[in-house]
Amino acid sequence: MQRFSSSAIHGSSSMSTMSTYDHQSAVTVLGLGPMGRALAGAFLDAGLRTTVWNRTPGRDRELTERGAAAAPTAAEAARASALTVVCVVNYDASDAVLREEETATALKGRTVVNLSADTPGRARDTGDWAARHGVHYLDGAIMTPAPTIGTSDAVFLHSGPRELYLRHKPVLDALGGSHTHLGEDIGRAAGYDIALLDLFWTAMAGYAHALAVARAEGITGRELAPFAQGIAAILPPLIEEFAGDADDGTYSGDLNPITSAASSMAHIVHASEAHGIDAGVMRTVEGQARRAIALGHGTDGFMRVTELLGRH
Ligand code: NDP
Repeated sequence: MQRFSSSAIHGSSSMSTMSTYDHQSAVTVLGLGPMGRALAGAFLDAGLRTTVWNRTPGRDRELTERGAAAAPTAAEAARASALTVVCVVNYDASDAVLREEETATALKGRTVVNLSADTPGRARDTGDWAARHGVHYLDGAIMTPAPTIGTSDAVFLHSGPRELYLRHKPVLDALGGSHTHLGEDIGRAAGYDIALLDLFWTAMAGYAHALAVARAEGITGRELAPFAQGIAAILPPLIEEFAGDADDGTYSGDLNPITSAASSMAHIVHASEAHGIDAGVMRTVEGQARRAIALGHGTDGFMRVTELLGRH
């Protein structure tokens, strides 16, 4: 166990000193939920000198046993490394940590990579705060669960100053997986995150509903699962095709017009409600399809609703 001491504290190194990965590199992780612990564990596995802090004490035990230095305050943790990774529940939490006076002072001239999830607006607001306080700032999003961290399956998205990203990439690469810099707009990683989680959670809502309807019909989850996987396997080529349709504004319904899709959705609503199962999500989707038909798009494909969602 590496005890936290003044000898573990390093001044703010210039960005150029971070340009190559070596085992002397130091990194600080603020926030030790399941994801923060996974990030810190991957940094330790890569041989980086890792300092950790969490609001609630006691979450660092396994990490300190593996060699992490536990800092008593976020400010002391920030002083220990040129690079601080913050990963807490949302930006209310990361604001509470980063904007605390002593921590903000400690971070001046150093780099923060915020891997907490929130909205693009909150990311831009934090980027503005960082600029006003002399903190180098990158925003990011983690698109895979904690057990993937440190493996080739991890997926990280980043946005902010490209030069800053490239300078810290050697350390970030210790987290494994793929890292993609999406652009200088600090809100861009959060924009991807929101869109991708929108897809994920509506898919999860659909699957939860499907399992409830199947159960009401005497079909177990395990009986349904192989066929549910078959439905999921249809999606990858459709995701590609519909992305092009959305970009081009063309929504061919040659193979499955929206009139046919709306009829199929009505069956799901009726069957669900016959079992007393809430069909609110599918009623909303059917309503969108019917609206597209009413606007004269009945021969288009369902993805035409993409154009109508923001229109009143
Ligand atoms: P949580 O989202 O539950 O966040 C827990 C962490 O947030 C703890 O360190 C907690 O501290 C801290 N926290 C909460 N409120 C505050 C506050 N006001 N001030 C300071 N710290 C606070 O756990 P995860 O680690 O799983 O997630 C962290 C981030 O990573 C989230 O934004 C999440 O969406 C994202 N993420 C997580 C994934 C996962 O698989 N877990 C996958 C992809 C992204 P304390 O212990 O003191 O409560």
